[in-house]
Amino acid sequence: TAPARDRLRIAIQKNGRLAEPARSLLTACGLSWRQSRDKLFCYGESLPVDLLLVRDDDIPGLIADGVCDFGIVGRNELDEQGAARRRIGLPDAYQALRGLNFGQCRLMLAVPEEWEWSGVEQLAGKRIATSYPAILADWLAARGVDAQVVELSGSVEIAPRLGTADLICDLVSSGATLAANQLKPVETLLESEAVLAGPVKTPDDARAGLMAMLLRRLDGVVKVRD
Ligand code: ATP
Ligand code: ZN
Repeated sequence: TAPARDRLRIAIQKNGRLAEPARSLLTACGLSWRQSRDKLFCYGESLPVDLLLVRDDDIPGLIADGVCDFGIVGRNELDEQGAARRRIGLPDAYQALRGLNFGQCRLMLAVPEEWEWSGVEQLAGKRIATSYPAILADWLAARGVDAQVVELSGSVEIAPRLGTADLICDLVSSGATLAANQLKPVETLLESEAVLAGPVKTPDDARAGLMAMLLRRLDGVVKVRD
């Protein structure tokens, strides 16, 4: 188990869609940081709450390992890594504590525009490219559909044109990327937004009080912004 700490650590995305909104949300909660030179670690000034700036993919693992106490990450990423853990028999190590009302998107199945969509039975024997293999595999299994999951770490939307897959399962917000690749969305697997993620079990040291206080402030800020 991780050692006792008296400062809180929050992991947020260093660069990307959630980076700026996550930081400004925490600032609105009254947090401020001393600017550090490497900018991977920001030392908390107004409160003993430090920031870790990382790739979003690393956030669930940092919470699972007890390196960070909270993280701001898309529900899509948290659910994928949670589902992947469950598939190999690992216990749940983190949970979404609050929805944060930004970073909204959907994880969707999208098929070539010329397909006539009649329902999930149509997926039998098809190859589906995705960066969310665990969520997709669970979704297919729950519907009794036998399709092949092709895991790709990026550029999923060009897979059908390249012939590496028949259709895709990817994040969609405006739909413009799908349209540009002659794909159309047909099924929603997950409605996602940025969430505050935390451990399943609250640490029993000075961090517990800080975590409770931050949650209270966050609730106030998110409510006012609504
Ligand atoms: P990193 O370098 O941190 O790994 P990334 O490329 O994985 O970055 P971003 O593209 O910045 O991540 O997306 C971060 C999160 O923003 C996504 O996981 C998702 O929750 C959310 N998001 C909102 N809209 C979209 C969208 N249209 N496409 C992708 N992600 C979106
Ligand atoms: Zn990422």
